[in-house]
Amino acid sequence: MKHAQTYQLTVNEMNEFLEQLSKKYDIYAPVRISCGGRYAKDDSIIYQPINTYQEIEFHERSTYPLKEVLTPITQTLFYFTEDEFKESKSPQKDVLIFGRACDINSIKIQDQIYLQNGGVEDYFYKRIRDKIKFILMDCPEQFEGCFCCSVGANKTDMQSLAVSDNNGSAYVGIYDSDFNNYFAKYSAVDHEIQTPLENELKVDYPVIDNLDLANKLKEHPMWKEFDARCIGCGSCTVSCSTCTCFETTDIVYTQNAHIGERRRTCSSCMVDGFDKVAGGQSFRKKPSEKYRYKILHKVYGYNARFHTGPMCVGCGRCSARCPELISYPATLNKLSQAIKEIKGGVQHD
Ligand code: SF4
Ligand code: SF4
Repeated sequence: MKHAQTYQLTVNEMNEFLEQLSKKYDIYAPVRISCGGRYAKDDSIIYQPINTYQEIEFHERSTYPLKEVLTPITQTLFYFTEDEFKESKSPQKDVLIFGRACDINSIKIQDQIYLQNGGVEDYFYKRIRDKIKFILMDCPEQFEGCFCCSVGANKTDMQSLAVSDNNGSAYVGIYDSDFNNYFAKYSAVDHEIQTPLENELKVDYPVIDNLDLANKLKEHPMWKEFDARCIGCGSCTVSCSTCTCFETTDIVYTQNAHIGERRRTCSSCMVDGFDKVAGGQSFRKKPSEKYRYKILHKVYGYNARFHTGPMCVGCGRCSARCPELISYPATLNKLSQAIKEIKGGVQHD
């Protein structure tokens, strides 16, 4: 990470800074929602607009990913009548988002899928993406199941600012000269904001370098266990920083089917019906087939198209959200083992 000019601000000074920023930016950060989680007494942590520094949750991984600022779970794209349509409101201000290195890196993957896939830019993604700048949050306490270092997502150069919470004060690093003016009254301090260098969890991230190997892996018995384990709920993909699948639905307000709104809603290759085609046929019926598709897309299909590495930033949310305790890192390690077996000529019945 390039070295930045760093300043130390009290919480009150941070709040003044955020107040000044809010004239130009909508500011988003992970925020704790008390009793907003899966079970009655569980909290959830989601990206929300903030006004004060104290609202930011620094000490726990957010339950849902940063992508929700750009592509909310449900979003109205436009409203229509019989012969005209009106675009939904685009963000009025620029947007600043607090995120960790993995979360910010996940937006590179989102950018490829929404902006560089098949030569078509997604208009509704682009209209917010063009307004976004990132504030990097450091990760002094690592969270269970994170493996950003195994996929090279522990470092980023996409941040405009970096913030390290320091119990009653904050270090703020400046990487974008647009923000220099805000700090003219402060003196720089000698402090470098760090991102993780090593995770406790290390993943042997599989490399599938050709289609023949990918096809052989499809036949490997490692997938069978997921028929008994995976319930096809889609939680792993909704919480995934890098999954992008959605569906669109026209909602009509009256009996006149020509008046309504078009919504884009997050979807998942793990749920029944996602791959249904004309004529009602589905090609991935069993949970093991859906899970295999998801994993091979992340490890092989995405990289075969973009040549930029895995479709994963090691945030660990998929495993944390799975109600059946299916571990994505454990699956990756099994896949690496299966690759070794195939390359070593081991046969399975
Ligand atoms: S696959 Fe799992 S670890 Fe990788 S980006 Fe998605 S949620 Fe994070
Ligand atoms: S969260 Fe777990 S049970 Fe649900 S679809 Fe994903 S792998 Fe299957």
